[in-house]
Amino acid sequence: MAICPLCEIQAKMSKNGRPHEHLSKTDVPRIFKGAKPRGFEEQDYQCQICQTKFTHSTSKNDLAWTVWRG
Ligand SMILES: [Zn+2]
Repeated sequence: MAICPLCEIQAKMSKNGRPHEHLSKTDVPRIFKGAKPRGFEEQDYQCQICQTKFTHSTSKNDLAWTVWRG
């Protein structure tokens, strides 16, 4: 299925941004406490319109919003 316009915008967010209104959490947050300097969290989301899945990460070494491919 094609990615919806809201997800297209979401996928281009390089910094922290709020999940768009049709993204729902699909799992509990994964918390990585051991990472330097302060640990980070990942949270999975899925769009209720186009079913695109995202992972949101608070790690400075990752993109804030990563689209699942394939
Ligand atoms: Zn979508």
